[in-house]
Amino acid sequence: MSTAQQGYFGQFGGSFVPPALQQVLQHLDDNFQRLKDDEAFQQELAYYHEEYIGRTSPLYFAENLTKQAGGAKIYLKREDLNHTGSHKINNVLGQILLAKHMGAKRVIAETGAGQHGVATATACAMFGMECVIYMGAEDTKRQALNVFRMELLGAKVVAVHKGQGRLKDAVDEAFADLVENYEHTFYLLGSAVGPHPFPSIVKHFQQVISVESRQQVLAKEQKLPTAVIACIGGGSNAIGSFAAYLDDPEVRLIGVEPSEAATMAHGVPAELHGFKCYVLLDEDGNPQPTYSIAAGLDYPGVGPEHSYLKENGRAEYVNVSGQEALEAFQLLSRAEGIIPALESSHAVAYAMKLAPTLAPEDVLVVTVSGRGDKDVEQVFNMLKTQ
Ligand SMILES: *Cc1c(COP(=O)(O)O)cnc(C)c1O
Repeated sequence: MSTAQQGYFGQFGGSFVPPALQQVLQHLDDNFQRLKDDEAFQQELAYYHEEYIGRTSPLYFAENLTKQAGGAKIYLKREDLNHTGSHKINNVLGQILLAKHMGAKRVIAETGAGQHGVATATACAMFGMECVIYMGAEDTKRQALNVFRMELLGAKVVAVHKGQGRLKDAVDEAFADLVENYEHTFYLLGSAVGPHPFPSIVKHFQQVISVESRQQVLAKEQKLPTAVIACIGGGSNAIGSFAAYLDDPEVRLIGVEPSEAATMAHGVPAELHGFKCYVLLDEDGNPQPTYSIAAGLDYPGVGPEHSYLKENGRAEYVNVSGQEALEAFQLLSRAEGIIPALESSHAVAYAMKLAPTLAPEDVLVVTVSGRGDKDVEQVFNMLKTQ
């Protein structure tokens, strides 16, 4: 059994949950292990990738951006072009197929800013599944439009008033629901975090990003990239962007965090939400409240496999400020006519710093995890007050 199969990546990962939940997660892992290599399952997934998400996503040579940076060639992996506008749908679709094959009739999920909730509600609409989204009460107020969007898609949004009414409280409620209703309910978790087997499941369904990009870059450049760059919240688009290159030691793997929530730079190994990873702790040893301009990156922990890849040195983790991301957001919009999500803008910002330090023969693959339409109003307000 590999370490990943036991749910550990070095000292990180694991599953620190009550016994009742442990049993449910074991059942999920058994089914995942059985189905992921099943040919019919793979064909079904490939069908929805193509027909519903619109994959394969392009690997676009950003010629104007490359000229502006002056150095390495910059390619963009366009996850922003997926149906619903980000990489999240890759994981949602894979897990909902798992749910279907496990006989679930009801899907539940947590959401913070609402992006994962919207993606989940979308797939549930298409598969005709009952959908319940748990969202912190505070977040439902700030993201009222996303609440309406989920309702429009037929989901029920439950505002969680417990605790601080934030993402963590929504996750707790979703797990409580799962333990009670596990027979017909599937918990569709949104990032490469949480207790085993979720980090492995999410990686499996996001690896399509790098499986595609590796073939695409080889076809276009006849060589592997110098570096692959992706932004990190929980780490799902990044682990998906890295997966196919893990055994290519010449390819640098670079995860970009916001300096306002730089878990890798300032965190320590600790337990969070049922697994072990790097965590930002305050003086009392509690998870630190963070604030990033990109809601999707605002998390005091990080996926266990990233924690391990940092520790063993296979991947590098850097950070850029919200201000730098805001500038990259505008830069990519003007240079290429591509408005990136504020999350993805962090990866673009770092690419613009790295490219000029490299040679014109070098190649960068930058994952644009999502599109920025959702962020336009926020950016408008930020620029107005600057
Ligand atoms: C949710 C989100 C992220 C952050 O999540 P990861 O699990 O770290 O990928 C990044 N970009 C976009 C567009 C998102 O919606």
